[in-house]
Amino acid sequence: MKKIGCLLILLSACLFVLAQSPVDKGLRTINRNTAEAYIGFLASDFLEGREAGTRGGRIAGEYIVSCLKIMSVQPFVEGYYQPFEVYTGKQMNNILGVIPGKISNEYVIVGAHYDHLGINPNLEGDSIYNGADDNASGVSAVLQIAKGFVESGIKPQRTVIFAFWDGEEKKLLGSNFFVETFADLNNIKCYMNFDMIGRNNDESKPNHVVYFYTDTHPQYGEWLKNDIKQYGFSLTPDYRPWDKPVGGSDNASFAKHNIPIIWYHTDGHPDYHKPSDHPEKINWDKLVEITKTAYLLMMKLANE
Ligand SMILES: [Zn+2]
Repeated sequence: MKKIGCLLILLSACLFVLAQSPVDKGLRTINRNTAEAYIGFLASDFLEGREAGTRGGRIAGEYIVSCLKIMSVQPFVEGYYQPFEVYTGKQMNNILGVIPGKISNEYVIVGAHYDHLGINPNLEGDSIYNGADDNASGVSAVLQIAKGFVESGIKPQRTVIFAFWDGEEKKLLGSNFFVETFADLNNIKCYMNFDMIGRNNDESKPNHVVYFYTDTHPQYGEWLKNDIKQYGFSLTPDYRPWDKPVGGSDNASFAKHNIPIIWYHTDGHPDYHKPSDHPEKINWDKLVEITKTAYLLMMKLANE
């Protein structure tokens, strides 16, 4: 009995040490309640569909900035806002937070667009494009990953930028502006993108997610496979190495400049670009697992 007792004490001590690893400490902060809070607010009717350059879009931006401040994520540009003006004369804003790395001029970036389609007054009935999946889901992932990094207490090797793009629905305006004006493009080691990560394309495959990555970086695929095994996640990614990932979403702005990318996407569904893209249709378990695996990947990208 004494031996068993000692073993048990030893085992719990080991588990305690494992549970205290800094990476796991950050990982444990990522959860469903937080995802529901972010998406519930961003996709509420009050935000009027978050069209870039409108009141609803600006409220969404203010909310994201508040969230970054609460986490103590620093601004990457003054006041977090990177304003840009486009042909419409409307001023739009990317939002950029940062955790400075030991190497200040080597970057990894994780991002998602926060704008959506606004309101269509000509529609009968529900006229607000809430965009819960497109792309409040992606914004929730970037915010939770930022929180995970802060809570881990790790000072990363590389500088990590948390990006929230505006004007994606108007042809990738925000992410394009960022890459066109960023002085140090060669030192961006990877861009990770989220666009629509909360739905089931096929209800019989609730764990399905498409995982695009630049094919010259096969380790991106290996890392995800290993993490799914190690942590026992139930995700079943469709691994899609891609030679020129210049389509689909904000990943294109980076891939155009030969920056390696990763893009998580749970595929199309009948509510795509419709007012019925609502929070209650989100597959929360999958969304949270995607966020957790992405956090683990960002940790590797930032430190290895
Ligand atoms: Zn989108």
